[in-house]
Amino acid sequence: MIIEYHRPENLEQAKRLLNRKSPITVPMGGGTVISRYNEKPLAVVDLQALGLNKITFDSDRCHMGSMVRLQDIVEYPGMSTGLAKAARRETNINLRRVATVGGALMTGDGKSPFLGCLLALDVRVFWESGTKPVSLNDWMSSDRLKSPGKLITGIDFSVPHESDYEDIARSPEDKPIVFVNYAKWKTGDIRIVYGGSGTRPILHTGGSPNIVKEIFNRVTRSSTTDGFSTYTDYQQSALKILIDRIIPGNGNMNEKDIP
Ligand SMILES: Cc1cc2nc3c(=O)[nH]c(=O)nc-3n(C[C@H](O)[C@H](O)[C@H](O)COP(=O)(O)OP(=O)(O)OC[C@H]3O[C@@H](n4cnc5c(N)ncnc54)[C@H](O)[C@@H]3O)c2cc1C
Repeated sequence: MIIEYHRPENLEQAKRLLNRKSPITVPMGGGTVISRYNEKPLAVVDLQALGLNKITFDSDRCHMGSMVRLQDIVEYPGMSTGLAKAARRETNINLRRVATVGGALMTGDGKSPFLGCLLALDVRVFWESGTKPVSLNDWMSSDRLKSPGKLITGIDFSVPHESDYEDIARSPEDKPIVFVNYAKWKTGDIRIVYGGSGTRPILHTGGSPNIVKEIFNRVTRSSTTDGFSTYTDYQQSALKILIDRIIPGNGNMNEKDIP
């Protein structure tokens, strides 16, 4: 239950509120998740007046404030194809107009196409504490609640040369059953993320021309350590089709190589 609402006008005020011992005080992005929280009395710090809602490009990097809404990403001219598609598939348009990058980073699970895409883009996360930005993958590989700060101020990533997103769902507007995000840079580095189950999307990196085959081998192994065992047989088969479809040139594989 929300017992206090604050809308600070600068980061210092926000930090002061978030550092209070009592009542429990947390940041609020769009509030789509937090407004449904009923367990304990909670004070919220609405971040909308802090100017964290900008998207900028600086040489080959894209910077986004944590208050950028998912729909802003969908509509931004020239946004990386994979990111725009994944943001659009995260949820319906009403929620996309409200939900923020910061909220998605804190709450997204293995079914989140948007979080999957941020992992594929090798996003760095910036905190109000001013510490060095943290790799999203490193942060997600540990306990996400043990974060380096109380407030995410933004993210950035090196703009990929190619990126894309594919999913399979019951209908075009239904939540994806499985999805794949793909990004490739001029250096030849490739990152592929798949999701549809578990606590986080699964990342695969490499520069090998046989990356598709490597992923198929990994998928077929159904390792319990990377959470793939939580995928149903149908999801596993569907993922193979998506991975095959999304990678231009199919990683130099012939159809007969696909297990
Ligand atoms: C009906 C519904 C269904 C959903 N289903 C799914 C689903 O299946 N899978 C999935 O992954 N997501 C799901 N979501 C989550 C949602 O789509 C996104 O996670 C969304 O981006 C939340 O953003 P928000 O800004 O509204 O978050 P808020 O409600 O504002 O905040 C969510 C959490 O993030 C914290 N937070 C917000 N901003 C910051 C910040 N800048 N710094 C630090 N902490 C911050 C808050 O303190 C809170 O703990 C669902 C949401 C709704 C409403």
